[in-house]
Amino acid sequence: MSKAVKSDYDRLPPTGRVTLVGAGPGAADLLTLRGQAVLSKADVVIYDDLVNTDLLKHCPAGATRIYVGKRAGMHCMPQEQIGEILVREARKNLRVVRLKGGDPLIFGRGGEEMQTLTAAGIPYEIVPGVTAALAAGAAAEIPLTHRGAASAVVFVTGHECANKSDQTAVDWAALARTGATLCIYMGVRRLPEIARALGEGGLAHDTPLAVVANATLPQQSVHLATLESAEAVSERLRGQPALIIVGDVVRWRELSQAARPMAATA
Ligand code: SAH
Repeated sequence: MSKAVKSDYDRLPPTGRVTLVGAGPGAADLLTLRGQAVLSKADVVIYDDLVNTDLLKHCPAGATRIYVGKRAGMHCMPQEQIGEILVREARKNLRVVRLKGGDPLIFGRGGEEMQTLTAAGIPYEIVPGVTAALAAGAAAEIPLTHRGAASAVVFVTGHECANKSDQTAVDWAALARTGATLCIYMGVRRLPEIARALGEGGLAHDTPLAVVANATLPQQSVHLATLESAEAVSERLRGQPALIIVGDVVRWRELSQAARPMAATA
């Protein structure tokens, strides 16, 4: 007797699938175990700039590696083209891994890829990753929601797309009033402007901030400033991936380091 077909899914021809995997912030051992397991079975891996290429060691030797990175101001591959590659490879009945820096759904355009795959009828899954804000907090020893100092944390982009509608434009003055710790992605270039807007919105000019560049990588560096002294840091770090943390919680780094005479300074 032939094996019963259990569902429509069993009747469909074998089909490729895509897994969007968060690669974490940089250090290769900050990939999740689930991400590693998915990579170890990949036929094709499609990866970006901020992905540590050491992670590709987890793929089978014969896996195809496709680089689709884009650096700020130097777009080497439009998002639509990345979507086309995902669909094209999955339609070859392959196991496709889309490896993205940090978490795929935090400023990672994972949403667009979900839409593209849905439209093409390709099944997908998402494996979360350690996003840069959390890595930066840990790297700089800044407790993002320290009790008594902040009861909320905001992930916000400092780099507005030219075509964003007003609805998604960042209202820095409103954020200044929340008292939340602000974790600003892609904000180094516009930091002086952002600091001014936060000051105008009511944040004290001596509100501390930390800029953590290359968090979790050997070249990691932590730079402390205040809203009014932010400009110099911005100039120094331009072009490096860096996460800006604004808020009173930044003082806890100074306090904990002062209490440890041997603590390393960045
Ligand atoms: N999806 C990613 C974010 C992509 S946007 C995530 O979840 O982390 C790219 C921005 O992330 C960079 O401009 C920078 O602000 C931040 N970033 C990524 N990796 C970083 C790192 N190792 N250290 C500091 N900031 C980082």
